[in-house]
Amino acid sequence: MAIVETLPPTADGHRRLGLRSPADGADVGEIVVRTPEEVAAAIATARAAQPGWAERPVKERAAIIRRAVQVLVDRRAEIAATVRGETGKPLVEALAVEILPSCDFLNYWSGRAVKDLADEKRRLHGYLAPLKKLVVSYRPLGVVGVITPWNGPFVLSINPVAQALLAGNAVLLKPSEVTPHSGEWAVKVLHEAGVPEDVLQVLHGDGETGAALVDGDIDKISFTGSVPTGKRIAAACAERLIPCTLELGGKDAMIVCADADLERASAGAVYLSMFNSGQVCVGVERIYVVESVADEFVAKVREKAAAVTYGAGKDVGPLFWDRQLDIVSKHVQDARDKGATVLLGGEQDTADGVYFQPTLVVDVTHDMELMREETFGPIVSIMRVADEDEAVRLANDCAYGLSGSVFTRDRAKAVRLARELHTGSVVHNDASVIYGVPEAPFGGRKNSGLGQVNGIDALRGFTHAQPVLIDRWGPKKESIWYPYADEMVQTLDRTIRLGFGSRIARRLMR
Ligand code: NAD
Repeated sequence: MAIVETLPPTADGHRRLGLRSPADGADVGEIVVRTPEEVAAAIATARAAQPGWAERPVKERAAIIRRAVQVLVDRRAEIAATVRGETGKPLVEALAVEILPSCDFLNYWSGRAVKDLADEKRRLHGYLAPLKKLVVSYRPLGVVGVITPWNGPFVLSINPVAQALLAGNAVLLKPSEVTPHSGEWAVKVLHEAGVPEDVLQVLHGDGETGAALVDGDIDKISFTGSVPTGKRIAAACAERLIPCTLELGGKDAMIVCADADLERASAGAVYLSMFNSGQVCVGVERIYVVESVADEFVAKVREKAAAVTYGAGKDVGPLFWDRQLDIVSKHVQDARDKGATVLLGGEQDTADGVYFQPTLVVDVTHDMELMREETFGPIVSIMRVADEDEAVRLANDCAYGLSGSVFTRDRAKAVRLARELHTGSVVHNDASVIYGVPEAPFGGRKNSGLGQVNGIDALRGFTHAQPVLIDRWGPKKESIWYPYADEMVQTLDRTIRLGFGSRIARRLMR
């Protein structure tokens, strides 16, 4: 069953894609793929509309985004229904992964924007302080393209879009062709709250439409998706010297220390590996458990994982895309072939939809794709290690570096191990929740991405920080300007000597 299928073109020659629910194959609509010419026209519309939006005070833009929280609350059932239609995810996950964090993001950013985007007076240091004043102004970039994936189609769209709008940009959203209407809800909610239609537009389509957006006359790309596409986008942005943020794949490790609360760790291992059918960039993909507690830990994980149900309306929904089923099946088979033991599940089930059984695999090694490539399935993979040092070494032996987690009763140890992990973030006794913390500067290292999508730098990343240096003394000629005179040499020499020639002077000049 293909989740996205090519339909006959429209009468005017546009490509069409038909969509099916991965839960039961039901028809869930279609999209008409926007052509490169239409993308260019949409960018031109956005460019014309952007100055008017940017002229409105941040307070006014923030009021609109805050109004969107109420729209979201009022429309939550419809949004959840669309998300569930396109992904098959359980209602709990539609609410917990998509709607609740989106309410929180919009509420948070709209509350922060006035302060975080206000002009900042910065005190100058040293010899320039008596002469100049510095004001940093956060100017909008212009037109921003936001390209998003299918695993968190609503939240991963509305979060960057809201930030870009607050910063005064016009935005074009290209949601995934697998979950286009879930992404489109981000636009509908914000329009209903008062964002003008020309300031925020949706462009439906697949990679061709996304590539046209990236190659268009835009000022920044915010991309969430796979590593290969991310690298292509980075190269295209480099050609045009425009910034991009890339939130890419992950292979997050969970480290279970000997002093971990094994009840919590085993429950976390199951949930954090399997929720959203395991299709979470910051989900747990590999677990390293210290040998001394490994038997007890595996037994507890086995008991809990055995109780997890799958199917429509059950704990674990389908994979959201049939292509994902091939990847998950391949990784599990590769692990089997190389000597891993599948204690639970391990098979796909396509009788009703695109399902993969909740699976527990042990005796895994770093020779297996299951421990090296992003799997994105409801799989718990556990490897025994001698001690925490080996766990850290193996966790870092990875092309990805998105996030990681440490399960221990000792907070100081969690912080110490976090410092040794080469990941964008680390979570103690929990995992994926880090993306839902807007204060946290969330972003990946290594193949997991570039830049940050949360935290103050994310919001300001949709602006250009423009320093404006103000003259304190009016139209007096600067003494260093032409014509050069001998006394200027003496003044400079004295400034260098008195300003930097002793410890006390250097301290005063800082
Ligand atoms: P993908 O790269 O195939 O597609 C992502 C988006 O890019 C889609 O909208 C797609 O249409 C578009 N696209 C495809 N080719 C393009 C091109 N050449 N130019 C411009 N746009 C193009 O990724 P996916 O399969 O939809 O998403 C799954 C991936 O996203 C996983 O690897 C997952 O880890 C990652 N992800 C990362 C985060 C994070 O925050 N780090 C969050 C969620 C998902």
